[in-house]
Amino acid sequence: MEYRRLGKSGLQVSELSLGSWLTFGKQIENNIAEDLMKMAYEHGVNFFDNAEIYANGESEIVMGEILKKMGWARDSYIVSSKVFFGVQGLINSTPTQKGLNRKHITEACHQALERLQVDYLDLFFCHRPDKSTPIEETVWAMHNLITQGKILYWGTSEWSAQEIMEAHMVAKQYNLIGPTMEQPQYNMLHRHKVEVEFTQIYKTVGLGTTIWSPLASGILTGKYNTNIPPEATRMNIEGLEWLKDKTLTEQNLAKVEQLQSLSRDIDITMPQLALSWALNNCNVSTVILGASKLAQLEENLKASELKTRLNPELMEKIDVILGNKPEHPNF
Ligand code: NDP
Repeated sequence: MEYRRLGKSGLQVSELSLGSWLTFGKQIENNIAEDLMKMAYEHGVNFFDNAEIYANGESEIVMGEILKKMGWARDSYIVSSKVFFGVQGLINSTPTQKGLNRKHITEACHQALERLQVDYLDLFFCHRPDKSTPIEETVWAMHNLITQGKILYWGTSEWSAQEIMEAHMVAKQYNLIGPTMEQPQYNMLHRHKVEVEFTQIYKTVGLGTTIWSPLASGILTGKYNTNIPPEATRMNIEGLEWLKDKTLTEQNLAKVEQLQSLSRDIDITMPQLALSWALNNCNVSTVILGASKLAQLEENLKASELKTRLNPELMEKIDVILGNKPEHPNF
């Protein structure tokens, strides 16, 4: 495992990390979640990603129990939470139980600490921008949590470059700590934000990125190329029809088929190709893996050592297949 600085901060995060969306507290049994975290940690993963909304708080409870049971030194891992949607989701939360106002940010942090059974969160993300809270209020609330020792770094998720810069301007104006990292979606089928929109802010504010859905929810494994497999898999989860409609398009599946053939040429699997491709972008601080089975995680963790197989010639071929080359800045 290799470690990268989280943007311009001094925090060293493993280039592959493990997330819990849709899996912990929902799709998988707790003993599988435990095995996944154990395998990840033993392979050098030091960052575990979570959020208040994941399985309505249950994901943090499961992760907290595992962290307690494993007894890993608190200074050996990084754990995150995210605030915005509320534990019950935007529709079912009361007006004070969601958003990025000072009250909900403070409450959400306290509740995440309790569910995760830790004294502080290493990373705390604003899960989405909140148009109904002044940015000053959000930046002050996050800064105060840092000075109180309840969080160490704060960041954003799915904010635009402009919104991130506004937060930095407020932080500068009042001498506060600004956002260190952003959590955007980034994968072979979703490139614009990371490769185009953020280009300037990597330089100006030293933005770190903890990227999500590196396999586009599993489409980049190639397992959906011909049909949706009947066994338990994300695309069969009730309520995720929107995800299916958005991602399982003919155009995407045609690209995956061609990419899969490239992966065979260099003797790696399709998920390993997709993950190695993301790892080869120097503006990515960590690629957050998702897995519902131990075998998936085992396969995916190998991307760390296989990433060098993607030479410039192969990266060119990938760009031709993807057909929308923005700018993938390689190491
Ligand atoms: P991926 O796109 O990598 O999808 C992971 C899923 O793909 C797995 O759960 C599994 O689903 C399938 N899969 C993974 N590896 C393999 C394999 N080798 N072979 C076959 N199938 C495989 O990542 P996620 O979408 O899970 O995102 C990762 C993390 O990012 C999340 O856990 C969360 O922490 C974070 N995230 C953050 C968001 C945000 O808004 N900030 C939004 C979404 C995620 P299955 O077995 O069910 O098919």
